[in-house]
Amino acid sequence: MILILLGPPGAGKGTQAKKITEKYKFPQISTGDILRAAVKEGTEMGLKAKGYMDAGKLVTDEVVIEIIKDRIKEDDCSNGFILDGFPRTMAQASSLGDMLKENGMELGHVLDISVDESFLVERLTGRRTCKNCGFGYHIRFSPSSTDGVCDKCGGGLFQRDDDNEETVKNRFEVYKDQSDELKSFYSGLGKYQLIDGTTDPESVFKAVSAVIDG
Ligand code: ADP
Ligand code: ADP
Ligand code: ZN
Repeated sequence: MILILLGPPGAGKGTQAKKITEKYKFPQISTGDILRAAVKEGTEMGLKAKGYMDAGKLVTDEVVIEIIKDRIKEDDCSNGFILDGFPRTMAQASSLGDMLKENGMELGHVLDISVDESFLVERLTGRRTCKNCGFGYHIRFSPSSTDGVCDKCGGGLFQRDDDNEETVKNRFEVYKDQSDELKSFYSGLGKYQLIDGTTDPESVFKAVSAVIDG
């Protein structure tokens, strides 16, 4: 099944994607993760993307569309995948529609994880991620058992450069500008599902699973 996770920065898309992967085995495709890896490696794509990411702006459509086009052709995507952080613009949504058609794939659901902005700043500034395995923590809501160390693999935890209050504000503005059109578009296709993202991660996942299980 092909799933799209919508929702503002910090809503819990990455957290839910990891739970979906664990239970249903669909791979998580996070454009943010792929871009951050490219920045770290210093590839041409990473160099192009870094300025936008640090400013909390969107990377150009061409760059992210190319990423997705290549990624969904890989073998592990043949039974479905989870798009986490893509599409973010109508141009991306429309390219995705074409790609799916070309590959004979059909969209399952668009899950919009909805959380009020007042909760999100704390979620984002307290977010920590494992350098090694990518698992996500929160210093208050889901801390690792040893400070700064991943429970799953012992790797070190880091804080994202763009999870500071300044950049977070820009990211919210960008999300607000782009998301209404995406929601109407997927509602029109009959694929849109609103999920309350304010409860604890397990309860959110119950709602997500209920949609996936139909
Ligand atoms: P996104 O991918 O949408 O930006 P994340 O999944 O990375 O969001 O979650 C942002 C932060 O909030 C992380 O630190 C995560 O541990 C925490 N978090 C995720 N879901 C919840 C939840 N339901 N309640 C409280 N904190 C959460
Ligand atoms: P969030 O926690 O905001 O959901 P992501 O990891 O999805 O964060 O995205 C981080 C940054 O990567 C964005 O602010 C943007 O610069 C870039 N990015 C990720 N996905 C996309 C996309 N689909 N289109 C354009 N830029 C993107
Ligand atoms: Zn780890």
